Amino acid sequence: MVEARLAHEGVNVHRGVELESVVAANGRVAAVVTRTGQRLPCDLLAVAIGIQPRIDIAREAGLATGRGIWTDAMLRTSDKDIFAAGDVAEVLDPTGARRTLDSLWSVAIAHGRIAGANMCGGSEIYRRPAPFNVTKIGGIMTTLIGAVGTGGREGDLVTLARGDSSLWRERLDGFAVAADTGDNHLRLVLSEDRILGAVVMGDQALSRPLQHAIREGLDISAVRGRLKEHPAAVAQLLAELTEPKVTVAAP
Ligand SMILES: Cc1cc2nc3c(=O)[nH]c(=O)nc-3n(C[C@H](O)[C@H](O)[C@H](O)COP(=O)(O)OP(=O)(O)OC[C@H]3O[C@@H](n4cnc5c(N)ncnc54)[C@H](O)[C@@H]3O)c2cc1C
Repeated sequence: MVEARLAHEGVNVHRGVELESVVAANGRVAAVVTRTGQRLPCDLLAVAIGIQPRIDIAREAGLATGRGIWTDAMLRTSDKDIFAAGDVAEVLDPTGARRTLDSLWSVAIAHGRIAGANMCGGSEIYRRPAPFNVTKIGGIMTTLIGAVGTGGREGDLVTLARGDSSLWRERLDGFAVAADTGDNHLRLVLSEDRILGAVVMGDQALSRPLQHAIREGLDISAVRGRLKEHPAAVAQLLAELTEPKVTVAAP
């Protein structure tokens, strides 16, 4: 869908292609050559390298690091007097099950608040909400909520987002259902009884209710079968689950 929109704007997308070399002429970039030997003329080259936290100082100081600076759920590093927060922090969840690097604005703010409180003697635990991001690509409004990966081609979806969450890239024990209606695309990742994540492209009416259902871990067992068959009906199905049941007493 994005590709079609970009093509309409005159942008050619070469998927699954790696650069071999950059060709310069008169001190300027003139072309790139791909691994397959194709030469693509260009006068501007932009390179996206993903998220790479600068952790040299921490590593040299002897702190434990991985992709980021390792912290516990209180944002303490391996030196209990040093805290890390934001893009550089790779945080252990309170269950100790996994570390996550969330390079998102809202996460950096929440980390900063908790690290600050704990530096002052507090003992606050960081519990990550489902990551959430809104971006626009090829003119299409796109929202990513929660875990959107199941190991297929969703890498394409994940790299649409600005900011990043390692949860988006994780291969989860869930399965995806999708619906396309006109210019809109909806993708839901479902477990047995929860919606784990969603990608909402185009009309954003579903974004809020889905964010709520994912963050609150709403039990969808009662409507899961119908949701699987008709993902586009998710709003009505969620409403069924959340609306108070009215019982009319017999006269
Ligand atoms: C182009 C772009 C678009 C983005 N869009 C979104 C978005 O739409 N939504 C979203 O949620 N997130 C987005 N993000 C991610 C978001 O900006 C970051 O997650 C957030 O800024 C992280 O805050 P931070 O304080 O951890 O790090 P930063 O904002 O990077 O702040 C770190 C600061 O530390 C300074 N610094 C570094 N080293 C040193 C040193 N040795 N001594 C002193 N100072 C130092 C840096 O100069 C910088 O000012 C985007 C990021 C980029 C790059």
